[in-house]
Amino acid sequence: MSSDLFYADLHIHTTASDGLLTPTEVVREAAIAGVRCLAVTDHDTVAGLGEASREARLVGLEFMPGIEVSAWRHGREIHVLGYGVDADSAVWPDYERRMMDMRRERAYEMVDRLQSLGKDLQHSDVDRIVGDAMPGRPHVARALVEKGLIASMHDAFAAFLGDGRPADVPKKAVGYREVIAMIHGAGGIAVLAHPAHRFTDYDLAELRDHGLDGVEVVHPSHPPDLTQYYANAARRHGLIPTGGSDYHGSADGQVPTIGSFGVAEDVVKEIRQLAAAYRTPSHD
Ligand code: AMP
Ligand code: ZN
Ligand code: FE
Ligand code: FE
Repeated sequence: MSSDLFYADLHIHTTASDGLLTPTEVVREAAIAGVRCLAVTDHDTVAGLGEASREARLVGLEFMPGIEVSAWRHGREIHVLGYGVDADSAVWPDYERRMMDMRRERAYEMVDRLQSLGKDLQHSDVDRIVGDAMPGRPHVARALVEKGLIASMHDAFAAFLGDGRPADVPKKAVGYREVIAMIHGAGGIAVLAHPAHRFTDYDLAELRDHGLDGVEVVHPSHPPDLTQYYANAARRHGLIPTGGSDYHGSADGQVPTIGSFGVAEDVVKEIRQLAAAYRTPSHD
């Protein structure tokens, strides 16, 4: 059990991308955990937001619509969270179709590489696990586990699918400036996800200059010193400090539970105020 329970958990995945629980199930799990507000932030899709927001209303939880967009910056992949985005915005259908096609092709290429590494895995095995979701590496990992070709998700990433491993295929993602503009265009604010050790003051200043609104300070991958570093950096750069568990469901006895990482209510208010300001016609 975690000792801290936050007002809001602003980073949660569902079956719309690579999470194990449906949007309805994550909202119910959040309610049981005792958090008051949750954001659903699936990889490159807003497909789960309608169902999650309906269920949140039913169980009396505050809901923050979100997305976690993959982006390229200076030759590396970064993740940009969008909060307060309109799921019905005209920017999404086109973007999601592109990402769906790109990620499916990428998953097939991973399967091809796994085959050449001696694993008896077919495209159809991955199709079955992906269903209608936005495909990702965890689906490929699950396919390996379900076919008995590897012992666990952890082993699948360690041996084959983790960053830089032999079956890891880079994404054809969009540039980060375009991603930030797209999130703003959908009425949301743009937040740098789980920066870990990678972002200096210079990087944050540059991102801020290109429209970044916040930085994810509280995240399971951040030890206390990093949380402190980014909390201070956020204050210096005028970025909103956000946080969440990055919950994907409890496979492999995953530790972070909903609400074990997150933020206080004033941060949620700050996000809503800034998103509302972006939506007023006078804003340029
Ligand atoms: P993708 O968007 O297809 O690159 O997949 C990224 C997702 O894979 C992350 O959001 C995690 O859910 C999962 N993931 C990445 N690296 C690992 C790892 N080393 N172990 C377990 N899961 C991982
Ligand atoms: Zn994920
Ligand atoms: Fe991420
Ligand atoms: Fe995530």
